[in-house]
Amino acid sequence: MTELEYTHCPLCESEDYKTYLQGKDYLYSQEDFTVVRCEQCKLLYTNPRVSVEEITRYYFSDYLPRAKKKRSIGNRIRSRIGQYFVDSRHELVKLLNSNNGKNVLEIGPGAGDLLIFLKEQGFQVCGVELDTNNAHRIRERGISCYLGDLDCIVNEIAPQTFDAVVLCHVFEHLYHPKQTLKTIYSLLNEGGIVYITLPNIESKEAKLFGKYWRGLDLPRHTVHYSAHTIKKILLNSSFSIVQSGNHNFPSSFVESIAFCTVKGKWPPLLYYPLYYLWKIFSPLHCRLMGTGVLRIVARKV
Ligand SMILES: [Zn+2]
Repeated sequence: MTELEYTHCPLCESEDYKTYLQGKDYLYSQEDFTVVRCEQCKLLYTNPRVSVEEITRYYFSDYLPRAKKKRSIGNRIRSRIGQYFVDSRHELVKLLNSNNGKNVLEIGPGAGDLLIFLKEQGFQVCGVELDTNNAHRIRERGISCYLGDLDCIVNEIAPQTFDAVVLCHVFEHLYHPKQTLKTIYSLLNEGGIVYITLPNIESKEAKLFGKYWRGLDLPRHTVHYSAHTIKKILLNSSFSIVQSGNHNFPSSFVESIAFCTVKGKWPPLLYYPLYYLWKIFSPLHCRLMGTGVLRIVARKV
């Protein structure tokens, strides 16, 4: 069992908090963790938490998408099936085009699939990735990628270089979200935008599944945002909110059912048929109860 560290509120720095829920790492370690609510600003965050030095032990090899030299048959089938569904990447392209976003930085691009897609759509793209293998493969795919933590390597990048910064399911992992927003602010051109997708702890999905909700992802998620708290941290960091809404992400619902029933993951042969079945009904699901994931776009002011 890893030794945990207590922390103050990552948003307002108050040390006044109450327990919100007791959860577990249902994905890997089965260890228990606590989510607390700040009594001052109402932010929900993991406390105590695994230190930043130890947290890599909780990212197992199948957690992050891996860049592969050759695509497996399974991946090709999944990609082919995926073409028949609404692709949120096209919505991002529309957003970038309507905001004159030519130069795009993605923080935490994983295997780099979104960067490659955006490059094919005519954007100039660049990544910042923590995982050495992924960073090397992204470079092999002809895309510039910095290796390391954004806040540590920021001096290697000229200020005001990008029109848009993208963080897909990354922001909730950050240990110093205010500092990272400050860094993003310095890298954006005047009027540049930041695009964030992250789990919504105030969603109906989160309330339905409680401690079994996949979006908690303890202990890897350090902060558990709602529409209100993510807007607050962005506004406090000199951004204005351009838009916010639900982001379709069916895997969160399907994996929450697995956490609820088998207290862990389903085998792929059970998971993927259910995932695609759920994806067919996801527009209806989204309309009826929203989704567990938020999409927020904010502008540097
Ligand atoms: Zn607070």
